[in-house]
Amino acid sequence: MSKRPLPLIPAGPLVQRILPSPEHLTIVVAPREPWAACPACGKPSWRVHSRYDRILNDPPWLGQPVRLHVQARRFRCLEPDCPRLTFAERLADAAPPAARRTGRLDDLQRHLGLAVGGEVGSRLAARLAMQVSADTLLRTARRTGAVPQPRPPVRVLAVGEWAWRRGHRYGTGFIQ
Ligand SMILES: [Zn+2]
Repeated sequence: MSKRPLPLIPAGPLVQRILPSPEHLTIVVAPREPWAACPACGKPSWRVHSRYDRILNDPPWLGQPVRLHVQARRFRCLEPDCPRLTFAERLADAAPPAARRTGRLDDLQRHLGLAVGGEVGSRLAARLAMQVSADTLLRTARRTGAVPQPRPPVRVLAVGEWAWRRGHRYGTGFIQ
């Protein structure tokens, strides 16, 4: 995860309007490019098959939940031999076609789930204006395959102290 602060708008789409409300901030965006690459064959297509509205949750801004409202497009693949006749374009931060949140919100919630678990993470997420259920947090964390496995209980623990130099900065270590 990047340590830089996240910009309000994810890279990629064009902002058309920002609609504040007491519950959340809605940012109406449009795809920037007139084309999209087919996920099966990689060939670009400019032929729009249909359009549909998508709402993607994004990281909160100044304590308010943020929603991206996108009029997304479905393209016809122009490659005659491609098995995909049509495909949905990928949106902000490469959100997959069925996702309900941007990739960067998914990333934040995944780290939350990994750090503090489902129940605590869900309560913390609500305080941070990015509400998510405990089950979703755990599912997101497990999807990466990086959930820490439970370790056996500690049987013997030793405590040692040392100084980097005589009279300077002391450290304490725990040795299992
Ligand atoms: Zn294709």
